Amino acid sequence: MNDFDLIIVGGGPSGMFCAYELVTRNPDIKVLIIEQGKRLMQRVCPMQEGAEKCAKCKVCAITHGSSGAGAFSDGKLLLPNKSDTIVRGNLGLHMNFSESVELYNYTDLVYLQLGATTKVQGEDGINYINNTLNPYLRSADLKAKCSRIRHLGTDGARKVYQNLEKWLEEHNVTIWFDTEVTDLLVKSKKVYGITYSKQGKTKQIKSNTVVLAIGRSGTEWLEKMCQEHKISYNFGSADLGVRYELHDTVMKDINEVLYEGKFIGYPEPYKDMVRTFCQNPSGFVSAESYKGKMTLVNGHSFLEPVSENTNLALLVSISGVKNPFEMTKSIARNINNIGRGQPVVQRLEDLRQGKGTTVEALSCNSVVPTLASATPGDISLAMPHRIVMDILGFIDKMDIIAPGFADNNNLLYAPEIKFYSLILELSKDCETSIEGLYGIGDGSGPTHGLMPASVNGVLLARILTKSFKK
Ligand SMILES: Cc1cc2nc3c(=O)[nH]c(=O)nc-3n(C[C@H](O)[C@H](O)[C@H](O)COP(=O)(O)OP(=O)(O)OC[C@H]3O[C@@H](n4cnc5c(N)ncnc54)[C@H](O)[C@@H]3O)c2cc1C
Repeated sequence: MNDFDLIIVGGGPSGMFCAYELVTRNPDIKVLIIEQGKRLMQRVCPMQEGAEKCAKCKVCAITHGSSGAGAFSDGKLLLPNKSDTIVRGNLGLHMNFSESVELYNYTDLVYLQLGATTKVQGEDGINYINNTLNPYLRSADLKAKCSRIRHLGTDGARKVYQNLEKWLEEHNVTIWFDTEVTDLLVKSKKVYGITYSKQGKTKQIKSNTVVLAIGRSGTEWLEKMCQEHKISYNFGSADLGVRYELHDTVMKDINEVLYEGKFIGYPEPYKDMVRTFCQNPSGFVSAESYKGKMTLVNGHSFLEPVSENTNLALLVSISGVKNPFEMTKSIARNINNIGRGQPVVQRLEDLRQGKGTTVEALSCNSVVPTLASATPGDISLAMPHRIVMDILGFIDKMDIIAPGFADNNNLLYAPEIKFYSLILELSKDCETSIEGLYGIGDGSGPTHGLMPASVNGVLLARILTKSFKK
């Protein structure tokens, strides 16, 4: 007899929402979530406690633990626009448009019940893009997209996910924290459980249904599992670039109306697609440790405290290479080498002039860095020339729609990388090529973001509920 009806590997938004929906629909079901990191309230990054630099924790408190990367995320829940006609968040293989509308609305309602703000930003975004921004977009040859956004802020997100953690434990969901799933038990192309490690001890636990909800931080482990157990997968792309920081005043109108605008351009000479991502008005640039092996940058904003800067990612997709994951990791390690183990920060003027930023230059820069642990230096020593050119060309285009976007004092932090480079081959029902093994969320499924990952969890729960009720 199996100990649990179902094991979810990873306690991020996708895994938690999957468990939520499973026990909501079937209160008798025995669900186990195994999470490598800690309970939400025990998740503390040493930098929050005064450490000057990223301590390179093996299990990073920013990306691992209850609610995964969601706990310290900016908590922007991207909601469909009323004019949308296609499924959001790359989930089109798994549901049709009307199902997706219902699932997004339902998941949004659960967030509201868990304490999410009722305020929605970006309602007037499409009008603003089509009317006010349009002439500037045309002259810059840029495209813009927007979403309606429920912005929880990092502090608000923690409260909501704390409520979800409590709800799950009160409703018969078992959650093992500080426990790493190290292997999958697979025989004759069927999963029958997992191997886990806790406090140095390794044990097995049986279940015929295992859900991989491992997020981007689990990509390396997943690749190993795919190779060992012959799980079908493909290499996708990885997004490589910088976190860009500038005064709020430059982004004032865009921040106020869109909150998060997504801008896309194809600058000369390479005409690669460059895009903005994860915009944080009055926010902070943050560091995240990747298994203690490298330190990447990201960004978030709180409702309180606020900074005077907006930060956003400028990203270029790396595809067409055998393994984008390996390639971007090696670039990240080289940038960390320049930064003496930390991310590198550089003034835009210095990058243009081909010189490294010095501590002295940064100390009198008009844009004050919000990630003090980043080392001033020269990103172009390790970032491919092509990506540097793409980013510089894109910044000039953005200056047409937001004058000051190309100001000399603006800051670039690297490495910013989004690993979406491993794509599991999934059936319509989110099942991998191994019977009983499912993939959801950012790491093993098709999503990029809190809301799609949560929706993906709910979707799989509904699919599985049918088989548990048979
Ligand atoms: C700083 C920051 C800001 C962000 N801001 C936003 C935002 O504003 N809006 C937005 O939509 N998205 C944002 N994101 C992205 C968002 O957090 C992710 O899209 C979302 O968390 C993905 O959910 P997930 O469940 O797929 O994976 P994750 O949240 O990454 O959760 C996966 C979990 O699996 C665990 N795990 C992995 N491997 C194992 C294993 N072998 N054993 C046990 N446990 C394992 C990990 O510890 C982790 O807790 C942000 C991310 C960061 C880092």
